Amino acid sequence: MLANKTALITGSTSGIGLGIAKALARQGANIVLNGFGDIEGPKSEIASLGVEVAYHGADMSKASEIEDMMRFAASRFGRTDILVNNAGIQHVARVEDFPVDRWEAIIAINLSSAFHTTRLALPAMREANWGRIINVASVHGLVASAEKSAYVAAKHGIVGLTKVTALETAPTGVTCNAICPGWVLTPLVQKQVDAKAAALGLSNEDAKKVLLGEKEPSMQFTTPEELGELAVFFCSPAANNVRGVAWNMDGGWVAQ
Ligand code: NAD
Repeated sequence: MLANKTALITGSTSGIGLGIAKALARQGANIVLNGFGDIEGPKSEIASLGVEVAYHGADMSKASEIEDMMRFAASRFGRTDILVNNAGIQHVARVEDFPVDRWEAIIAINLSSAFHTTRLALPAMREANWGRIINVASVHGLVASAEKSAYVAAKHGIVGLTKVTALETAPTGVTCNAICPGWVLTPLVQKQVDAKAAALGLSNEDAKKVLLGEKEPSMQFTTPEELGELAVFFCSPAANNVRGVAWNMDGGWVAQ
């Protein structure tokens, strides 16, 4: 379905981003990976799916590096047809204790980076009259939790950016939508499981149950594979007129 298309996924060396990259690659899209940590493992996983794969190590908190990454993708593959804004970090503290540098990093990486990639990807998408922009927001783009001020502000912000981008592209073949996962057991959430286990003196398994029990009636983690399939749907012809939605996949978190 996505042969001859190029998908650039920010923060795709791990977790949800890597799950989405694999799902798009299975549909034939060439992939530009981004993120930190192990690069060779994710690259060879994608290459084994029979598509072209490239990597750019731009730091999503730096506009100049994002500009370089978008130029790199265009020079390697012609243009970015599918942009998945996924890179994100978390920090947990009450507002009055929140470190200023963590606030600034979260707003830069979880929100402003999507503004930069979107503004840079849109001209070529408009010219081709086809494009997909998928913003990985969160249930925290729809509701709040205590001690996550920067994250909740950034995720509400990216849901707003999604709607504006969808309106500005509405008469074209470019769509923009957001995905709002509940708990997904990635390194980002494992840190919160570890903190819960330490604070309450629980095993890893019991801490996971407490975390799920606080928010998710299904008592199940959403998986990167499930989120990847939702991204594939947004890229399909059936989703041509799905514009500006914030689609939660959250085990009932926001339904309560
Ligand atoms: P993760 O920690 O597994 O992956 C984060 C990715 O972002 C990694 O590839 C990392 O290298 C990259 N990254 C971090 N800082 C970066 C930077 N400055 N520049 C470039 N890349 C950077 O986390 P995840 O859980 O897969 O999270 C992915 C996205 O999903 C985030 O936006 C997160 O807010 C969102 N999300 C996660 C959950 C969850 O439960 N895990 C729930 C809702 C939303």
